[in-house]
Amino acid sequence: MSKPSLLDFTKKELLTLIKPSFRVNQIFGWLYHRYANSYDDMKNIPKALREELAEKYIVNPLKIINKEISTDGTIKYLLELQDGKTMEAVWLKMKDAIHTEDGELVQEARFTICVSTQVGCKVGCSFCLTAKGGFTRDLTTGEIVAQVVALKRDNEHKHNRMINIVYMGMGEPLDNLDNLAKAIEIFKEEEGLCISGKRQTVSTSGLSNKIDRLGEMGLGVHIAISLHAVDDKLRTELIPMNKAHNIASIIDAVKRFPIDTRKRVMFEYLVIKDKNDDLASAKKLVKLLSDIKAKVNLIYFNPYPGTPYERPSKESMVSFADYLINHGLLCTIRDSKGMDISAACGQLKEQNKGA
Ligand code: SAH
Ligand code: SF4
Repeated sequence: MSKPSLLDFTKKELLTLIKPSFRVNQIFGWLYHRYANSYDDMKNIPKALREELAEKYIVNPLKIINKEISTDGTIKYLLELQDGKTMEAVWLKMKDAIHTEDGELVQEARFTICVSTQVGCKVGCSFCLTAKGGFTRDLTTGEIVAQVVALKRDNEHKHNRMINIVYMGMGEPLDNLDNLAKAIEIFKEEEGLCISGKRQTVSTSGLSNKIDRLGEMGLGVHIAISLHAVDDKLRTELIPMNKAHNIASIIDAVKRFPIDTRKRVMFEYLVIKDKNDDLASAKKLVKLLSDIKAKVNLIYFNPYPGTPYERPSKESMVSFADYLINHGLLCTIRDSKGMDISAACGQLKEQNKGA
């Protein structure tokens, strides 16, 4: 068994593990404000305490082993864990920096980090490359937290600069709910990264009972539902566990989920040519979401070798979106960030296999 990481613990827990308490404040600063990689970095912590801690805990549970940089500013990271397993996280540039004509900075660039929650995934969606590799294991809380720390460090992104987190990397977040919930809490720590729940979005393939549990935890996070189909037959073909958690059960769970009244629940709809890209599906989607404060994010299916599915045409995507908008649904088409580096779920890891 490998040792736990300091990133596995909330500040409150560290206070029970490490004495005196002012040392915990210093260590927390090293971890989340200065992104320390090892005990050697922690200059103001006495050597004896560092040695004592090193016997029980590691500082950083992962390392960056590959990095692909897209022309649009997206960076996809392949990360290796203590046990040699690998997973990925993505650094997404959402908005460019704004400067005045004299070159003065008006607004800094905005970034979002896409985080993994498992190595592989149990859900087995038929369109998803992650699913092809099967399920290996859950990530620990520290391994989830470490992705954000590592990417901020690598991009020299100061601790107090705003960042959003989306749990849309490898794995089904709600299948690892306890570790996820603790990571969310650690991200929220005021003396740490201070990333509020509002800045964190959990994407799920629709484990309806766990949507309820997440809501009951009162973490204040957003949810995004990977809906992808409007009838149970097709949805079960795409997402086999739809048999146990059908569309109606997901919609009911979403209606119970506590959301900020100004915000909307995001429904992701992966558009696949000749499967779900017709206007009859768009019509059903409008009906299905009619009494929910929803917004729809249409995603182009991103093909990979061996998949039976095809990318939809731009025309069908646009007419699908127009239908939704004309019928009162908020809708965006996800611009394919990092297209040139295959930034869709699971693809970097697959490319590196056997390399
Ligand atoms: N397991 C969670 C979160 C991770 S999947 C979920 O399913 O919601 C992240 C996103 O990648 C999902 O919206 C999924 O639909 C999308 N995705 C998976 N395979 C894809 C592909 N081949 N092309 C485009 N998007 C894909
Ligand atoms: Fe898992 Fe999400 Fe991929 Fe489905 S789409 S297999 S839930 S990671």
